[in-house]
Amino acid sequence: MKLMRVTSPGDVLQIINEQFRALADETLPLEKAGGRYLAATITAPEDIPGFDRSTVDGYALFSGDSFGASESMPAMLEFAGEVLMGKPAPPINNGQCCLVHTGGMLPAGADAVVMVEETDLSGSLVQVFSQVAPAENVIHRGEDLKMGDPALLKGSKLRAPEIGLLASLGISSVRVHRRPVTGLFSSGDELVDYNAATLGPGRIRDSNAPALQFLAEQLGTEVKHGGILPDSFDSFLEKSRSMLGETDLLVFSGGSSVGSRDFTARTMQELGKPGLLVEGVSIQPGKPTLLANCGGKPVLGLPGHPVSALNIFSIFGKAIIGRLAGQDKPGFEPTVKAVLTRNISSKSGRTDYIRVRLEESAEGLKAVPVFGRSGMLRTLAEADGLIIVPPAREGISAGETVEVRPWE
Ligand code: AMP
Ligand code: MG
Repeated sequence: MKLMRVTSPGDVLQIINEQFRALADETLPLEKAGGRYLAATITAPEDIPGFDRSTVDGYALFSGDSFGASESMPAMLEFAGEVLMGKPAPPINNGQCCLVHTGGMLPAGADAVVMVEETDLSGSLVQVFSQVAPAENVIHRGEDLKMGDPALLKGSKLRAPEIGLLASLGISSVRVHRRPVTGLFSSGDELVDYNAATLGPGRIRDSNAPALQFLAEQLGTEVKHGGILPDSFDSFLEKSRSMLGETDLLVFSGGSSVGSRDFTARTMQELGKPGLLVEGVSIQPGKPTLLANCGGKPVLGLPGHPVSALNIFSIFGKAIIGRLAGQDKPGFEPTVKAVLTRNISSKSGRTDYIRVRLEESAEGLKAVPVFGRSGMLRTLAEADGLIIVPPAREGISAGETVEVRPWE
């Protein structure tokens, strides 16, 4: 048997970054651009806000008029009317104040707003019971963003806040990178379509296809499923060659270990240059993982074991999709802290992903390892998340606080 050359997970991520580029960009209307990554930095075409605004409901005044005001010694100001929302504010003089609502325009002559709770209006007099500093409860023109400032940098993901920010600037279309299209194949003579009514002897359902499709779609790609490939080199090559032509990224599930019946590696060498880059990763579960660059397009070979397939796709599939979609730097992986309930062992030199269930307890969250054969999907379905044991460690002891990456 041929020995497998293994690459560390960190090196695989670096290879992904070095080998692949963001896809071409396109212009999209803002309301269709959510989840995409900006292909160019956007500068603010105008000031935000466009005028000095109150951040509270209260009275706009000249702050100097409130100095020394207190509960027992209120300042007395002349009521000069109300600033209507969406209307220009008439100017005020010293000694006067104007009722203003949250977001309303600050009148010329005023430099602060006292909250309505700190005042009392009787007739045409407003009593002010506390002093306000200059600029208190006011957001100035351009304070959020000045015209010409970078509003969002190239590579930013357009989440809800970014969409809102661009809309507030009147930007109705954006240059974003194209959304990757993923071609997905399952492989193995034992597989039948998952919705087949009956299974012949020795047959199993192709559970990876719909699971990986959902994951890939969650990660922001469109998926084309190429069906189940029989274990034959010719069908691997023929089907994947035409699929690669229509997609940005190819994923094979199964057939990835470097053995005589495994065709993914050979197919990768034929599909395009430079070909196979990674033929095994020091990771558990998921060691028999392949990665190739076939004429500039990434091709990922996942182990067929369902747990390994999902684990590997959630790490390296995610990184590839992010790279193609134009993500500038890897996103944060949110984790929750929990106390491990049992010792777990791990081989040094390997990054282990341990499935855990989270349990609430009086002392806080507990992480309970879910044990079972690595291929068993049930163990993953029972898990809330994963603990990552770094290669330098040979396990983690019960009682230690660990970081759990939730499995969505
Ligand atoms: P392979 O990576 O092809 O050697 O497959 C490893 C194990 O995963 C075998 O037991 C396969 O039967 C199983 N397997 C491979 N592909 C799938 C799939 N699409 N759905 C469910 N199990 C699979
Ligand atoms: Mg197989």
